Amino acid sequence: MLSGFRILRVAGISLELHASFLILITLMIVFLGFTDPASLFSTLVFVFILFASVLLHELAHALVARFRKIRVEKIILFPIGGMAVSKQNPSRPLDEFLIAVAGPAFNFMVVLGVLFFVSVYPQTPFFPAGLLENPSAFPVDALSDSVLKFPLMGLLWVNLMLGVFNLFVPAFPMDGGRILRAMLSAWMGGFRGTVAACHVSQVISILMIFWGLFSGGLMLALIGGFIFLAASQEKNSAQATHVLGNATIESIIRKNAWVLGYDSRVSEARSKMMELNEPALLVETGPNAFGMIFSEQLEKETNLVRNVREIAQSVPFISVQAPAREVLNFFNASELEAIAVQSGGQPAGFVFREDLEKLFKLLKLNKN
Ligand SMILES: [Zn+2]
Repeated sequence: MLSGFRILRVAGISLELHASFLILITLMIVFLGFTDPASLFSTLVFVFILFASVLLHELAHALVARFRKIRVEKIILFPIGGMAVSKQNPSRPLDEFLIAVAGPAFNFMVVLGVLFFVSVYPQTPFFPAGLLENPSAFPVDALSDSVLKFPLMGLLWVNLMLGVFNLFVPAFPMDGGRILRAMLSAWMGGFRGTVAACHVSQVISILMIFWGLFSGGLMLALIGGFIFLAASQEKNSAQATHVLGNATIESIIRKNAWVLGYDSRVSEARSKMMELNEPALLVETGPNAFGMIFSEQLEKETNLVRNVREIAQSVPFISVQAPAREVLNFFNASELEAIAVQSGGQPAGFVFREDLEKLFKLLKLNKN
């Protein structure tokens, strides 16, 4: 499970900074400290405004989710944005719509708040003189330099960009993509709505990649690639849920799970594997800890007296009653070819990727 360093706890929701975020801030301080110390402070203030806005945007999603009785455990800030972590996805289109709209709505409220403030207090320094007459003389890069003199302009600009980008780009995992999915799901049903929204996201992401590559906007191309992957994952997961439904893994567990003892050697593992005619075995790697060894690994190992536990891969265990769709999502997001199964705290067998994919194809034929 994703986690970071907790900075605050609001209404039962933990607000955390991901380690990569802290590393990036440290690197930025060191880099600017050497190259451009004069702009260090204003850049940090700008970054603070940006990420406080992102954090509050995510908090708005989370609070509306809570209001709609969907539990959100935490919000993690990454260098590229924030993410609300929840064990369940909103299943009703109206819930998803309201939760998705809440984030950008908060940003637009900040924009309106700033405009209201400067209209009530017109003496407040708001933006540099001449900005409206000649905006091209004030490039976006200059925003972080002028943020100390014009913090309200920075706040307005950051929130306007966050609101517009999240709301009007109808692509996963941005809010616009979720709003599109909610609307399509209400119209054509949850599964078909999700698949259609994922296809829209993929088309948009491919356009972003091409546009980014041809205009030299590498960041845009990277975001496009990220959106493409997120949309593909969302589509796979929707398909797994749709096809596998409430099926469990019970029918495809290979129960021939022989557990090699802690001191077993490679030679012993090889003969056991031949005897059982299975492509993998479990290995005891410690008290109540198990790893997995595959036939290809044993074939490559030349030292026959080596302890098998030294070359065993650690594998996650799942329960015998685990829903097949969750296991398929696990395989889609991992490189492992098998996962170990436990029953009552004891190893009970394996599920292989190929077996689950066969089950998926079989059930898919029945669905069509
Ligand atoms: Zn959002």
